[in-house]
Amino acid sequence: MDISVIIPVYNEELNIDLLFNRLTNVMLALGVKYELIFVNDGSKDNSIHLVKKLAAQHQTVRYIDLSRNFGHQVAVSAGIDKAIGNAIVIIDADLQDPPELIHQLYAKMQEGYDVVYAKRNSRKGESFLKLFTARLFYRILSSITSVNIPVDTGDFRIISRRVVEALKQMPETNKYLRGQIAWIGYEQTYVSYNREERNAGKTGYTYRKMFKLALDGITAFSNFPIKLVTFMGFFVSAIAFFMILVSFYIKYFTDLNTVQGWTSLMVGLMFFGGVQLISLGIIGEYISRINTDVRKRPLYLVKESNIEQE
Ligand code: UDP
Ligand code: MG
Repeated sequence: MDISVIIPVYNEELNIDLLFNRLTNVMLALGVKYELIFVNDGSKDNSIHLVKKLAAQHQTVRYIDLSRNFGHQVAVSAGIDKAIGNAIVIIDADLQDPPELIHQLYAKMQEGYDVVYAKRNSRKGESFLKLFTARLFYRILSSITSVNIPVDTGDFRIISRRVVEALKQMPETNKYLRGQIAWIGYEQTYVSYNREERNAGKTGYTYRKMFKLALDGITAFSNFPIKLVTFMGFFVSAIAFFMILVSFYIKYFTDLNTVQGWTSLMVGLMFFGGVQLISLGIIGEYISRINTDVRKRPLYLVKESNIEQE
């Protein structure tokens, strides 16, 4: 098997047939042995039936039907676990990632690269808020992590077998695959493309899911927030110490009525309270991830699949 294509699917009934056709054309043109692995991530629409229909008609179609919605990163991970290709392509089902770009990804890989990711020159048809938060997030993350995670890059990419094997050795449950792949190293490069509009349907990435992905990326690849807490602790303590001196001074060396200090009391109380809660929250984000890793629950459960279990 030369190429396995992994396609996470969440409510994509309007895109599956077109995606299948375009992917198949690309693979036939490449003249490779390939499999298309559709991972149904608990879709509420007709997606799984369409996928199963394709699987019944075409040898090349494999599917993994997860027991519920586990999220995009986990769906891709499920595909990675089952893929047998020497190279693996990860691609969205909504045709925002043009299948034809696989020609270039694969060609670059033949030059000896282990990872060729697709970098977005432009993104069409997405809200200002999404573009803005994505831009901001990628830049914050790259400024606070020592791992060189490429900016403006999703999971659309081709990766080699040895990268896949490395990924399988990384057991964290809150996955941030593009960070993990950057961490793995070997030879990596990219090709640029213009991200299309979603073909049909609507995004499965709610702001809530995006926020979780962002926090997973940050907590898995940076301790900066924790260090920030320490820094805030020192900074705030310095202010507090100063305020203590001021308070004593006012009480013992001036004849100001100390009860008048209501405003400064409230300001101090709110300020320290806020800083403490933020700090607890940051630490909590890290601890909750330790917690999920310690539980060692399986990453996902499979309801049905036409891939033989080894
Ligand atoms: N997806 C998924 N599980 C989810 C949400 C999305 O498997 O919980 C899939 C979705 O079907 C698509 C890909 O992940 O193939 C990217 O999702 P989407 O296009 O909704 O995100 P966006 O492009 O808007 O960021
Ligand atoms: Mg999309």
